[in-house]
This record gives sequence, structure tokens and C-alpha cells, in this order.
Amino acid sequence: MKIEILGTVQDGGVPHLGCECDVCEAAREDPSKQRYNASILLKENSDSDSIRYLIDATPDVRYQLHGEYLDGVFISHGHLGHINGLLHFGEEGRDAEMIPVYVSDKAKEYISKNDPFRILIDKNNIDLITFNDGDSQSIQGANLQAIEVIHTGVNTDTLAFMIRGENKNVFYMSDIHEWTEETLGLVKEADIAIIDGTFWDKEEIDRYHEVPHPVIKETMHKTENWDTEIIFTHLNHTNPALRPNTEERKELEERGFKIAERGMELEI
Ligand SMILES: [Zn+2]
Ligand SMILES: [Zn+2]
Ligand SMILES: [Zn+2]
Repeated sequence: MKIEILGTVQDGGVPHLGCECDVCEAAREDPSKQRYNASILLKENSDSDSIRYLIDATPDVRYQLHGEYLDGVFISHGHLGHINGLLHFGEEGRDAEMIPVYVSDKAKEYISKNDPFRILIDKNNIDLITFNDGDSQSIQGANLQAIEVIHTGVNTDTLAFMIRGENKNVFYMSDIHEWTEETLGLVKEADIAIIDGTFWDKEEIDRYHEVPHPVIKETMHKTENWDTEIIFTHLNHTNPALRPNTEERKELEERGFKIAERGMELEI
């Protein structure tokens, strides 16, 4: 199997509504500088594209997915950048027929009870399959397992995913509140970890305490010199490491870490 990175930024995207920073203004003027919301695609290790599973349906999904074929969608949690793309599978968009959507019990309840998501069920566009903490799904030689993690301000559970391929294990976790022994252990266990890099430091935005994430500075300190290849994703538009020529980006790369880029492929 292969993993393709389809998007790399926080839910508000780049450009970010209401922001006039140089990154956001440049993205408004030049579409090639836009960045899509964090998402990955699990696909077969060949050109046939016969197996395709999406992790997180972002509002940018119509740009991110090529072709019609999709075997299923795994949803990490109910925030804007992770679930709202499901609406594109409805009759105004793809008009899908019963695409399997793997969700936790709480996300299932949320989708089933709230418009406009509920309409996707009425119209048989999606088929909700319960996928809770500890559950796993085999995907042609790979195995994908859900792990519940802690993330604030969301009315569903939040799931991270351990993807065990034939040769490599990949841990994917775009949103958490703070590191725990368990989540650090999962990073350590993985060959490659694609993880929450929303902010560089806590001073980056005024309302950091309302939307806490472990900051890259701290994560690098905790995981320095581990064998795991660490790739940061879900970056906020304010994160200096998002910009290619900053001191922060240089420091991060010199210390052996990476920033996720759209189109990056990992063989597992
Ligand atoms: Zn998010
Ligand atoms: Zn901005
Ligand atoms: Zn979130």
C-alpha cells in the first residue's frame, strides 16, 4: 500500500478567512499557493488505483481527490476540516451511492441527527459504519486501527489511526490537545508518524489557550533523535514552519523533522 498526503493545513485553510497575512494574501492571488486541509489517501501500491480509502473528508475534497473511485472514508472527528467534505458526496456534488463512512458512535449520532449531514443518509449517499477506539479494518495487506485521543472543543470523539503496512507502520494523528504517554508511545512504535503540527509555539496566536495543540517546539524536544520519521501536518496559517525560508523551518529540517507537503507519497 501507499499513503498519499492530500492536504497539510489546519481546518481554516490557507488562505484563512479574515486574515491579511502575507501567506494568506499570496494564496488569494495565486491559487498554487493555496493549501488544503489535512487529509491522507490510502491506496494500492500500483497504478491501478483499485483500492482507495480517504482519511478525513475536508472542505477541499473536490480538489484533493482525482477520479471517481473510492472504497471508503474514515472520519477522525467532527470539526470543520475533517467532516464537512462529506457534504460533497451528497446530491449537490458527487451524488454517491452508499459510500462506506467509518465513524465513532458519537460521530454517527451527530451525522444522523443533524442537517445537512442527515440528508446524506436519507438519500443513501453514505453508509455509516461504526468504528470506535480499538477497532480495526484490513485493507489488502494493511491494517488500519482507530485510537481515541483527546482533543478539545469537539462534540464527537477524536480518533487517530495506526496503519500497519507490510513493511512499515504509519501513525496518523492530525489533532490533539496535548501529548500523553500513550500517544508518544504510538509515535515511538511507528516507522513514520504524521502528526499535529498546528502551532510552532504558544505565543503564535492570542487565543492559544482556547484551541490548544502540542506546539512543534515542544514535540521536537520530546521526540528528538527517535528512530521514527516525524512529519508535521495540520499547520495553522500563522505557523512560521509553513513558510519555506524561515529560521524555524530551517531549524526543524536540520533537526531531522519534516513538514508534510501535498502529493508526498509513502510506501508502507
Ligand atoms: Zn483540525
Ligand atoms: Zn494568514
Ligand atoms: Zn479538530
